[in-house]
Amino acid sequence: MISFNVPPFVGKELDYIAEAVKVNHKISGDGSFTRKCSAWMQERFGVRRALLVTSGTHALEMAAMLCDIRPGDEVIMPSYTFVSTANAFLLRGAVPVFVDIRPDTLNIDERLIEDAVTEKTRAIVAVHYAGVACEMDTICAIAARHGLTVVEDAAHGFLARYKGRFLGTIGRFGAFSFHETKNYSMGEGGALLLDDAEQSARAEIIREKGTDRSRFFRGEIDKYTWVDIGSSYLPSDLNAAYLFAQLEQAHMIFQDRLRAWAFYRAALADLAEAGCVELPVVPPECAHNAHMFYLKCRDLEERSHLLAWLKEHDVDAVFHYIPLHSSTAGRKYGRFHGEDRYTTRESERICRLPLYFGISAADQMAVVDAVHAFYQHTAVCKTRSADREVLA
Ligand SMILES: *Cc1c(COP(=O)(O)O)cnc(C)c1O
Repeated sequence: MISFNVPPFVGKELDYIAEAVKVNHKISGDGSFTRKCSAWMQERFGVRRALLVTSGTHALEMAAMLCDIRPGDEVIMPSYTFVSTANAFLLRGAVPVFVDIRPDTLNIDERLIEDAVTEKTRAIVAVHYAGVACEMDTICAIAARHGLTVVEDAAHGFLARYKGRFLGTIGRFGAFSFHETKNYSMGEGGALLLDDAEQSARAEIIREKGTDRSRFFRGEIDKYTWVDIGSSYLPSDLNAAYLFAQLEQAHMIFQDRLRAWAFYRAALADLAEAGCVELPVVPPECAHNAHMFYLKCRDLEERSHLLAWLKEHDVDAVFHYIPLHSSTAGRKYGRFHGEDRYTTRESERICRLPLYFGISAADQMAVVDAVHAFYQHTAVCKTRSADREVLA
């Protein structure tokens, strides 16, 4: 079976973990590897603070706290996203207001956001799906007009860019995930990027259970106390050690994923030309990071057949995101503003192919062959191809 995902491993991870245990004698949070990861990100992204946290979910929860969300506030976001995008704000009492996505990038449709703004709106969450940026200029302009905070859910977007700027650095807060399915990993983990001095000081406190312990450790105060709301968002330095090995090799991982992505793109171009599938669209202002390669089937039925076919041919392909507004919690706590033209439709057509650091060309070729074989064997595609007189 060709796995859908294999966690990234570049070589030095276990040495660094051993160093944390045997040399540093530090396995709790904020040890030397955590500091190294933060410094790496602060330098690379040019931001004041990059706080390493226990998950992408927790980075979003911290952002929601820093936004000072109050019960009844509204937060605009896509429905086509992971549950944490909504949960983080729901936990503060906010109502998630879902807006439709664009059919090309599957990102929130920036042209529909302003119509969803009410007196209660406090924030817009831009989820950069597949590491392809949302239309940030438009989103930031809407936020500025209405005094809203922009939060970037950049869980997919580590090292991807929009008009040259790194994702996660454009809004007031940027959240990354280092879950094992993301491009760079520490098992479970994430980071929160922020640039404002006051917000940075508060974020540090929220991350340390609502205490000013970080200042105490830096010797800035002589005792630490409870000063704000907060929780335990420090990852173990063992996890940070794993991540740091990958940050040191960030370029290699990035290039390898782009190679794998481009391979699929080229090898499936004929099916797209024949009208059998659609392939990902990357607008020219977006430099993506090959977080994901997907193809779009005609509809749910065709996708179910394709996924089953791929399983039979030892390829573990997957789909994702049951739209939040149609899920149990989404119906109860959120609402969809406007018409669902694309969210449900596109979510039913997505088929994600295996893509991970180090995937071999032979495995990718086997995936591509299986996809080709499916479309050669299904009457659906034959008809469609014949219609278009492309594969005569
Ligand atoms: C993975 C992911 C998250 C959550 O990250 P975790 O580290 O798993 O908590 C949030 N949003 C999106 C879009 C994600 O893909």
